[in-house]
Amino acid sequence: MLAAACSSTPQVSRLSRADSWASAKAPALVGAHPMPIGGYSAGCLNGGRSVQDGPGLLLMRTSRNRTYGHPVLVEFVQTIGKAAVDKGLGTILIGDLSQPRGGPMKSGHRSHQIGLDVDVWFRRLPPGKNGKPEPTLATFEREKLGSPSVIQDDHLHTEHWSASSGTLLELFASRSEVDRIFVNPVIKRELCIQLQQSGKKDWLRKIRPWWGHDSHFHVRLKCPAEAVLCRATEKIPAGDGCDESLNWWFSEEAAELANQSEPAEPPILPNECESVLDQL
Ligand SMILES: [Zn+2]
Repeated sequence: MLAAACSSTPQVSRLSRADSWASAKAPALVGAHPMPIGGYSAGCLNGGRSVQDGPGLLLMRTSRNRTYGHPVLVEFVQTIGKAAVDKGLGTILIGDLSQPRGGPMKSGHRSHQIGLDVDVWFRRLPPGKNGKPEPTLATFEREKLGSPSVIQDDHLHTEHWSASSGTLLELFASRSEVDRIFVNPVIKRELCIQLQQSGKKDWLRKIRPWWGHDSHFHVRLKCPAEAVLCRATEKIPAGDGCDESLNWWFSEEAAELANQSEPAEPPILPNECESVLDQL
């Protein structure tokens, strides 16, 4: 009792706690319409749906139960899978989306909270040839298989990166639903160099540098038009991002920040998330 009275640890609200959301094993719909509620790193998902395997698309790490998204994201992922097949890019491997009701996660991500973020592996399965069916993976393979880094010694890995990796990024970035895509700064820099000569680099603007993201890229969709409770991220600065702002990512300051491991403050979720969490 004394310990509790003297404790200096502030009470973290039920809505801010990752375990509250991890224990919701199925999605919930409050009201008539699905809705991302709050911000990408402080919110929840009303009316989530699970992405399923489909043409050009396999879900990885399914035991985590993070295959849920707003219906707009689910449809987007399925459409991209088909487009990847049409372009001969093989089968895309999908990592985490959101938990069934979104919210903060116990591990792995700060964002992915409102059903509009999805991680896509750089690793793909080659297309089925000569009329053979598209490849699939057993459940244990989805848990065990990894995605190697596409970076080696500060450059693109000659084995794990190919021109088709860039084509895949372009496929995603060219879609109007996509707000931005996070990749490792080395990938951004190399794409800037490669595409400097060609006029077709508008899509590079959406490719944003961030730490990590060398074995997968993170695709973030815009708030859907009717989603009044969805909080958009600040706008991407003008230009393709192949300028001095990119140099910062290779500075000492950026390296120091990358090594800091201060625990993040618990996110403050909108009150509307309470009924999503409490729905039976
Ligand atoms: Zn991500």
